[in-house]
Amino acid sequence: MVNIRLKDIHLGPWPGSCLLCAARLNAGKDICAACELSLPRPEWACPRCAAHGAVAEVQDVACGECQKQPPAYSLTRAAFRYAAPVDKLIHNLKYHGRLELSRVLGGYLAEYLKTLNDPVADVIVPVPLHSSRLRDRGYNQSLEIARFVAKALHLPINWKDAQRIRATAPQTELPRDLRRKNVRGAFRTDETFANLRIAIIDDVMTSGHTANALAESLLQSGALEVRVWVVARA
Ligand SMILES: [Zn+2]
Ligand SMILES: [Zn+2]
Repeated sequence: MVNIRLKDIHLGPWPGSCLLCAARLNAGKDICAACELSLPRPEWACPRCAAHGAVAEVQDVACGECQKQPPAYSLTRAAFRYAAPVDKLIHNLKYHGRLELSRVLGGYLAEYLKTLNDPVADVIVPVPLHSSRLRDRGYNQSLEIARFVAKALHLPINWKDAQRIRATAPQTELPRDLRRKNVRGAFRTDETFANLRIAIIDDVMTSGHTANALAESLLQSGALEVRVWVVARA
């Protein structure tokens, strides 16, 4: 794999060239087979929060953190570990307006979910941005990713009835112990979620507190079960 110059590359119509090494590709692909092999796939991960390597080799046993303080969501699925080059792809989607990368990332997430034997979900809820951040960025990357997952899995998306009512500091800029507090009560969700099995979609899960706060709200709105689907787990 050569150095990534994502800024210079724009996803055009298929067939194009590999996003990561510029090799020529067949239609339907954005990343070549060789580069695909180098993507940071998940290894052992906690079934509940997708933290990796915490309790290696014990399948289906939640990590220590989840056992101590079980999250509101029932499980977490992450297509990748948050590492190169996936971190760059996400960063470019999120901060450099590279909206077309949602096709790549959403595609991988959907592909990964299809390999699992999880019970079906009824509706996808992308983690909402606060209106002030949405105004600044112009789009919600989680919704853009969710569109491709929804299409591939034939699921509806509901992005209207879950809102972020508090503008919060980015979780990554806060010390660990303040992250939970930062997002607590940050969301408002509607009763339209009552009796549904919900899949929250986000680009990255770091501490899990954001997903947890949204899951808490959805359960209070009557959701039957909430799980989390992310492109990458830090
Ligand atoms: Zn390549
Ligand atoms: Zn865990």
